[in-house]
Amino acid sequence: MKLNCNVEVINRSIQNVSRRKAQKSCLAIGKQSVKNPELYLLLQTTQNKQGTKYKIDDNIQQVFTKFIDQGKTTIRLNEPPHDLIIQSQDPIQLKSFLHVLKLGVGKKLDVSVLSVSNLTPKTLPQTRKTKVVIKTKSDYPVLEGFPRTTEELTISGLERKSFDRGILRLQSLRILNLSNNYIKSLPKELGNLSHLNELNVSKNLLGLGEVNKWTWLNQKNLSKNLRLLDLSGNQLQNLPNQIGKLLNLFTLNISDNKLKNLPLSIGVLPTLKYLDVSRNEIVALPGSIRGLRLESINVSDNLLMLDNQTMTSIIGVSSLTEFAAQVVLKHRMSYDASTIPFTLVNYLDNASFCVCGTAVFNIFYRKIVTMDLKRIANIVTSSGVTVVPFDCNFCSMKCIKQYLPEFY
Ligand SMILES: [Zn+2]
Repeated sequence: MKLNCNVEVINRSIQNVSRRKAQKSCLAIGKQSVKNPELYLLLQTTQNKQGTKYKIDDNIQQVFTKFIDQGKTTIRLNEPPHDLIIQSQDPIQLKSFLHVLKLGVGKKLDVSVLSVSNLTPKTLPQTRKTKVVIKTKSDYPVLEGFPRTTEELTISGLERKSFDRGILRLQSLRILNLSNNYIKSLPKELGNLSHLNELNVSKNLLGLGEVNKWTWLNQKNLSKNLRLLDLSGNQLQNLPNQIGKLLNLFTLNISDNKLKNLPLSIGVLPTLKYLDVSRNEIVALPGSIRGLRLESINVSDNLLMLDNQTMTSIIGVSSLTEFAAQVVLKHRMSYDASTIPFTLVNYLDNASFCVCGTAVFNIFYRKIVTMDLKRIANIVTSSGVTVVPFDCNFCSMKCIKQYLPEFY
């Protein structure tokens, strides 16, 4: 007979009554051993897995049952002079436990009828572990792995050179912090974690990884759920256009890298509110971000130099592929190599964006223009001025007229 409950143990022999806080416990009534049928109460807690044994015969002074209907009772023992204050979620189970105890006290317990097992300590039900923080190598669960219930996982400052694929099994994972390691690439399957909201891989070595290290960004689950992405301090020289697939991204930190320009797709991240591109080598911001409405942007410690030249001017007739691709991107239809040819995936992934947000493939007109960052963000942090150069693509004559009136 076993009962899962909370038990507070009071030692009556100590003056001022020593109390130990109620703990999640398992109470059992059983035999001492196979040969010794004497009955005992066994109290196990997570801290005390071996448990404390209390003799039942001639040892139970009183059982207080006034609040039994509320799942509360107290068992007063003679030796040791302990009071076990029991709180159970299930009053009916508690009653039947006390009933068995009463039979035991009255020596009416038929050991062969009621299943009274030998009192060998059994493992207690584990509490659900949802947050795991590993900051020293000795804490790393090398053999047992991470608890499957993990929702928040921090593996920080461990000099890890690779991504632990055990993380990919954590289907409840919401927050992953791998900051301060030596990781060079993330696996494609990371993008399949269906609840991942926050990914912090700051202060790693992603910039030194292989070229196709960004495949994880293409996965549908990630594009739907990721809200925060921290890639700061990774020696990155470029960022892929696939960043634009993160449809619910709220915070993007790409500060402290070696970026000379930003992917144009940043400008079409519909929910972006916080953008930090400080401490890079950016010459001009992409013109597409003029369509964003940010809470804050940090552009400090970049080059941001004005170069007033027209850079490209290709005037041509759009192809049917271009028209079709524009529609796919405009409506944010999801696509990958399982539905369309890989060459088209590539074509779509490498779209540029006009200041109006339309995807452009054959750039119609491109020019560096200056604009005040206060037009797109409430809080602007910069090294000095807030009027900075933007590298703008224009999809049509109509957009040139609208955004570059001085052109005429
Ligand atoms: Zn346009």
